[in-house]
Amino acid sequence: MIKFLDLQKINLQYQEEIEAKLLETFRSGWYLLGNEVKNFENHLSKYTGSPNAIGVANGLDALRLIFKSYLELGQMKFGDEVIVPANTYIASLLAITDNRLKPVFAEPDIENYNLDVKKIEALITPKTKAIMVVHLYGQICWSEELEALAKKHDLKIIEDNAQAIGAEWNGTKSGNLGDAAGFSFYPGKNLGALGDAGAVTCKDELLAKTIRAIANYGSDEKYVNKYQGLNSRLDEIQAAVLDVKLKYIDADNEKRRKIAERYVSEINNSKITLPHLPTDPKAHVWHLFVIRTENRKDIQDKLLEKGIQTLIHYPIPPHKQKAYKYYNNLSFPITEKIHDEVVSLPVSPVMSEDEVSEVISALNSL
Ligand SMILES: *Cc1c(COP(=O)(O)O)cnc(C)c1O
Repeated sequence: MIKFLDLQKINLQYQEEIEAKLLETFRSGWYLLGNEVKNFENHLSKYTGSPNAIGVANGLDALRLIFKSYLELGQMKFGDEVIVPANTYIASLLAITDNRLKPVFAEPDIENYNLDVKKIEALITPKTKAIMVVHLYGQICWSEELEALAKKHDLKIIEDNAQAIGAEWNGTKSGNLGDAAGFSFYPGKNLGALGDAGAVTCKDELLAKTIRAIANYGSDEKYVNKYQGLNSRLDEIQAAVLDVKLKYIDADNEKRRKIAERYVSEINNSKITLPHLPTDPKAHVWHLFVIRTENRKDIQDKLLEKGIQTLIHYPIPPHKQKAYKYYNNLSFPITEKIHDEVVSLPVSPVMSEDEVSEVISALNSL
C-alpha cells in the first residue's frame, strides 16, 4: 500500500530529537508565551528573511489576523476588496469574508494553477486594497509584473503561504515577498506540527505588533486591552516540535523535488496532463503533485486497485460551496475545469525510489 502521505513515517525521521523536546517542554511547566515560541519565531524569521515572525494557532488565523490588523490600523475598511484566485482552498476566502472584506475572484493560469497576473488589472476598482497570492501546491506565485501592478495601484500583497514554505523567487523565500504572509503548520503541510499551528511573517513592524496583540486578546501589556482581539497563540509544545523540523525543511523539500522530477520525466500517458517543472527548481516545493485527466474517477479507482492512494485538491471551488451561496451563480470556467480534473499523486520526503517507480508504472500501464 502506498499511502498518500505517511505522517507517522515523516515524523519518526526525527523521533529522538522530537521526543526529547516534547519531554523537556512538558517538564518545564511553561506552556504558552515562552522561549520555545520565541526561538521558533526567531528561526522562522531568519529562515524566511522576513524581519517579523509571529506564531499563531493555525493557518486560517494567520490570514485572518493580517486583515484584522489592517482594519484596526485603518489601512483597510469593511467592504474593501481583495483580489484572490478563484481556485484556492476555502481558508483563503474565509480570512477575507470573516473580516467583512469582499473577495474578488480571479481566474488562474491553467498552465501553473496560480493567479494569472494579466487578468488582475481589469478587476481593480477604487475599493481594491489588496491582492492575495496563493502559492498553490507549493509553487511560487510572483513576478515583477505583479509587483509593479501592486505598486501602481497602491495595493498590499498578502501571501497565502500555507503550502509553500521554503519556495523561492529569485533567491527570496516565500513569506518575504509580499507585505505579509500566512503560514500553516497543519500536520500534512511541508512543515507540519503535531496538531494545529501557524505563523505570520511581515515586513512592517507596526503591523507585526498589532497582529501579536490581536492574537493575544488584543493586548500587548497584561490586562490592558487595546483591541477586541482573539486568542490565537502558538503553544510551546508545537513550537518546540516545529523548531526541530524547521532544520530539515530544505532537505525534505529537496526530496519532494526529486520525486516530482521523476514523475514529470517518466510518466508517459496521453490521457494525463502533467504539471510543468519551473525554470528555477527552487520556485516549487511540491506540497502536492497534481495531474489533470478527464476520467479522474477511473484513474483513481484503478490506482487504488494497485494499492496507490490519491486525493483531490480540491473537488469543489469556494464559489460553488454552500457556505458562499451568494457566489454560486458566478462562473469561472478555468477554475471549474481544474476542480473537475485534478488528482494529487503521493509525494513526500519518505517515499522510496521503488514506491515512486510503482506509481509511475501504474500510471503508464493504464
Ligand atoms: C492549509 C491551508 C490553509 C489553512 O491552514 P490551517 O492551518 O489548516 O488553518 C490556508 N490556505 C491554504 C492554501 C491551505 O492549504
